[in-house]
Amino acid sequence: MPHLQQTWDNRSFYQGSDDPEITVTVNCLKADIKALADLCTPFVEPIEAAAPIPAAQVDRWLAHVRAAHQRRTETYNRLGNLRTFISSVLSVDSRDPRASEWKPTLQQLGAEISQATKALDIFLLRADDNFIQALVADPVLEELRFSLQHQRQLQDQLLSLAEEQLITGLAVNGLQGWGNLYSELAGKGQCTVQGNSMGLAKAFNLLSSPDRAIRSEAWHGIKTTWEGQADTVAAILNAINGWRLEETKQRSHHRRLHYLDKSCHQSRIDRATLDAMMEATYQRRNLGQRALVAMGKVLNISTMEPWDLFAPPPTGGQAEGQGERVAFEQAVDLVAQAFRQFNPAMGDFAVMMAEKGWIDAQPTPNRATGAYCTSFAEPKEPRIFMTFEGSMNNVLTLAHELGHAWHNWVMADLTRYKTFYPMTLAETASIFGETLVRDALFEQASTPEQKLKIAWEEGAAAATFLLNIPARFTFEQKLVEARQQGFVIADTLKTMMADSWQHWYEDSLGSYDEMFWASKLHFSIAGLGFYNYPYLFGYLFSLGIYAQKDRQGSAFNHLYTSLLRDTGTMTAEAVVQHHLQQDIRQPEFWQASLDIVDRAVSRLESLVTCQ
Ligand SMILES: [Zn+2]
Repeated sequence: MPHLQQTWDNRSFYQGSDDPEITVTVNCLKADIKALADLCTPFVEPIEAAAPIPAAQVDRWLAHVRAAHQRRTETYNRLGNLRTFISSVLSVDSRDPRASEWKPTLQQLGAEISQATKALDIFLLRADDNFIQALVADPVLEELRFSLQHQRQLQDQLLSLAEEQLITGLAVNGLQGWGNLYSELAGKGQCTVQGNSMGLAKAFNLLSSPDRAIRSEAWHGIKTTWEGQADTVAAILNAINGWRLEETKQRSHHRRLHYLDKSCHQSRIDRATLDAMMEATYQRRNLGQRALVAMGKVLNISTMEPWDLFAPPPTGGQAEGQGERVAFEQAVDLVAQAFRQFNPAMGDFAVMMAEKGWIDAQPTPNRATGAYCTSFAEPKEPRIFMTFEGSMNNVLTLAHELGHAWHNWVMADLTRYKTFYPMTLAETASIFGETLVRDALFEQASTPEQKLKIAWEEGAAAATFLLNIPARFTFEQKLVEARQQGFVIADTLKTMMADSWQHWYEDSLGSYDEMFWASKLHFSIAGLGFYNYPYLFGYLFSLGIYAQKDRQGSAFNHLYTSLLRDTGTMTAEAVVQHHLQQDIRQPEFWQASLDIVDRAVSRLESLVTCQ
């Protein structure tokens, strides 16, 4: 095994948050913004004229668009590199003082770029169809084809240029400020477990301790910490959702866009697809509930509780509390082997990520919670952040993030605008990675204990994706509906969350996590609402694709790569129609995936019975 690093090395970009080069970049960005504003000023005139571009002037306007577009790409790449670098520092140490200072500066610069190019955006969204046809025939601008066609569907939601610039400018200290406040609370929050004070990321990992008392203490500790911040987080959720509702209202001159239609547009799925998926899942909620019952039997727990949801399966023969730990090197190797069976290049890629120091997984104090995959813009290099402490859950998180990274990697040669894929399709690639690993581990398992371990992970996934994720969706719907009526206080949020869990878990849990709206960062992400259903989409969709693996044989490897490469230039419906000839607006598509989950849950149940 070659030497693998567990901390990332991003020094090819900047030496640290105190690198003087950062100031140089920021000054460059300021000059870029000035230049962009000058390049985009001419578009004000045709916007105000609101008439088709005369044929004789098409070439002149195409040249203007080309110049602004190219400068914008360079600027975003510059900003992208610095932004990824600064957030990489803050993820490892949320208290890094210089990075904390740079973060709002970069958000401000992002908003200024967006303001400077607003006239270009509006011009492109309002331009007549003939001009757009000429534009996408241009070799440089051709990369905008899908993005323009998609954005132009919401043409009627546009405000005036001045209003659009105002919203973007105010959002930095308004909308985004609330999201930042949440990250600070999560990064600095401390709780006590077994007499030890620790950050929330570390406490979260204790939820997968084999010792039920530790899990319970960690869960209650996290809950107590967030209860101390309940009013602050309630203020955050109200501000973020209130902002979105007001913005939608302001944009509704011609048509009031439903919040779910807005989210579906961002996710590049039809509302019919979302409805078909949620309905099919609700009909089969019993699958996740059966998985929980089976897991309870294995653990000898009569009623599962929220702190048991991440429990590991018992390890045969070992004393309680001595759960099997996997070393980071071993984890990378496990994932790489599983990927390799499907596609050798994908396996090599996983090892390369660790060899190059593109993964940060070593626990640190004041570490951010959660895991993510991100990417530098130029050169396009992926990075993975997570907290690895050796549980099977950690191994699957690594597989998940490596699935994302592979998705980025196969698209690395595409131009910038062809690489923007929606979350629904992003989570397909990551969960596909997880599935490969779970499946390979099951194949390798020779003893019933080993088989149970994997079947357990499958059961746990079914419970997460088919119950927990939908409960988050139900909660968010309730929250948005209630916010339309007024401010929603913390106590109401607790009730809403408990009701949402009840709706999906029913009596498969002894109690519900009523502070989940505070502890789960997903509800406080400023940039995006309804952050959760894409995970369910990714889970069921990737299982659907996975089922094609055996049917398609060796052709599948290629099919999967081309499907991933198309995720930035097609809607989810079109991707599936094109590559798999299926219609995801129909319940049958989702039911077929749920049948696969059914088989996995039955497998777990049969292993439990023969224990
Ligand atoms: Zn993911």
